Amino acid sequence: MSGAGETGAILTLNAGSSSIKFAIFDVATDGALRAWRRGELREDGAGQRFRVKGADGELLADEAWAQSGFEASLEHLLARLDGELHGRHLAGIGHRVVHGGAGHRTPEEVTPELLDLLGSLAELAPLHVPHNLAPIREIARTRPGIRQVVCFDTAFHRTMPAVATRFALPREFERRGIRRYGFHGLSYEYVSRRLAVVSPQVHGGRVIAAHLGNGASMCGLRGGESLDTTMGFTALDGLVMGTRCGALDPGALLHLMRWEGLSIDETERLLYTRAGLLGLSGISNDMRVLLERAEPAAAEAVEVFVHRIVRETGALASVLGGLDGFVFTAGIGENAPEIRERICARLGWLGVRLDPAANAAGAQVISAADSVVEVRVIPTDEEAMIAEHVRDLPAS
Ligand code: ADP
Repeated sequence: MSGAGETGAILTLNAGSSSIKFAIFDVATDGALRAWRRGELREDGAGQRFRVKGADGELLADEAWAQSGFEASLEHLLARLDGELHGRHLAGIGHRVVHGGAGHRTPEEVTPELLDLLGSLAELAPLHVPHNLAPIREIARTRPGIRQVVCFDTAFHRTMPAVATRFALPREFERRGIRRYGFHGLSYEYVSRRLAVVSPQVHGGRVIAAHLGNGASMCGLRGGESLDTTMGFTALDGLVMGTRCGALDPGALLHLMRWEGLSIDETERLLYTRAGLLGLSGISNDMRVLLERAEPAAAEAVEVFVHRIVRETGALASVLGGLDGFVFTAGIGENAPEIRERICARLGWLGVRLDPAANAAGAQVISAADSVVEVRVIPTDEEAMIAEHVRDLPAS
């Protein structure tokens, strides 16, 4: 049964290569969204693991089974979600799609034509887009009456000026789509909207948002809009990530293939899955583990991670022409005070002064009262952003 004053529910799906994250939101009659269920279906070496949490983060289900194979697990997930709706009317399903190319710059309702078009974009992000599209196709096939909306992770960066999107390649390559797009857009859009509420003046100024999770990037925002970002044509560029390399001299790639004899597939695996914190440390891709370990290689990996963030902050602050606010978000940004402290300690020249006690306590504002730059922690919520888009996109 629908709760009092509710108009239905929105399901969000964020399908990656080894997991599908989901959330169910209630939409109140005044449009307010409330997450009623959150969870994920994850594939690991042993099989599938399905976890669901309730509105207050309480664990409601934690199941594992040996079955594997995407269609079977997706069907299982959808059947479970039907149950998790508890009789709520499903008003729509929103999906995160990593790449919308140059042509898809706002959320769109799914049609068979759109799916074909997005399928042809898969070559821009072959490790992500096919996984993103699979549940959309499956739902369109098995539950054709349900409204589906796609939200692109590239869309928020549509405000980047051409000078920030261009590679210095012959222009014909730009016409074929080889340009900087930027990613983590749903996260930045959410953070920007939250900042507009909690700190409107800073939101109206020059802000750097740092999404530091397994994937990591930074975005320079002016007036709440993306002006530049560290990820480019793919989600490989920019910062050091859990297993991705971040910025790499393209000459190193040529060398790896020509002299080290790596094939294209081997190079791809190296850059996406064996590099980053994992590659540097030889221990783990997980920041928590690296901060606990005593080996020099763990500390060195963290140092490179911090160094790149500091360097990119300088670059983005120059593009913005100064800095009024800095926002930390995602797993590391939200939960690792030591990393925030090490970054802020090196940004004194920009007017950043940390309040160590507020930082250690995980306060919302972690800068000192006399800091020129307001430093905040804003927990991201890509699922809520997707749900907002489903709610706000007029039905076609
Ligand atoms: P994903 O990109 O998979 O959504 P998350 O945003 O969940 O990633 O971030 C995962 C990262 O956050 C991991 O490196 C993890 O170690 C780190 N992290 C989470 N909690 C902490 C913590 N308390 N201290 C340090 N790092 C943390």
